[in-house]
Amino acid sequence: MFEATCHCGAVKIQASAEPAWLNECNCSVCRRLGTLWTYYHPSEVTFLEGAGKTVAYLWGDRGLEFHHCPTCGCTTHWEPVRKEGAERMAVNARLMDPAKIAGIRVRHFDGAESFRYLD
Ligand SMILES: [Zn+2]
Repeated sequence: MFEATCHCGAVKIQASAEPAWLNECNCSVCRRLGTLWTYYHPSEVTFLEGAGKTVAYLWGDRGLEFHHCPTCGCTTHWEPVRKEGAERMAVNARLMDPAKIAGIRVRHFDGAESFRYLD
């Protein structure tokens, strides 16, 4: 099990699988948030703490909700606005134990320009 916990502990997310890879994106929001994303099917993710308590930020075409903890401000995850049939959500791996994700490949996504992976 892989757990992502915000700084104050109000939000605790459990993922059922090891991240296949981690994504550092340079788009206007990800570069500011400093996130390292790992992607899951929503069925693979469980909120042990803080379900429904996080705050969503929407921008651009408003298709995704970027969530953060209302107390400590850590970015926890994103999920599609449209929950029905959603195939993907992302958990911020910066909230995972660094030792557990140390060997996992980090990819760089050019979300700012080409919308392609740079590797
Ligand atoms: Zn918190």
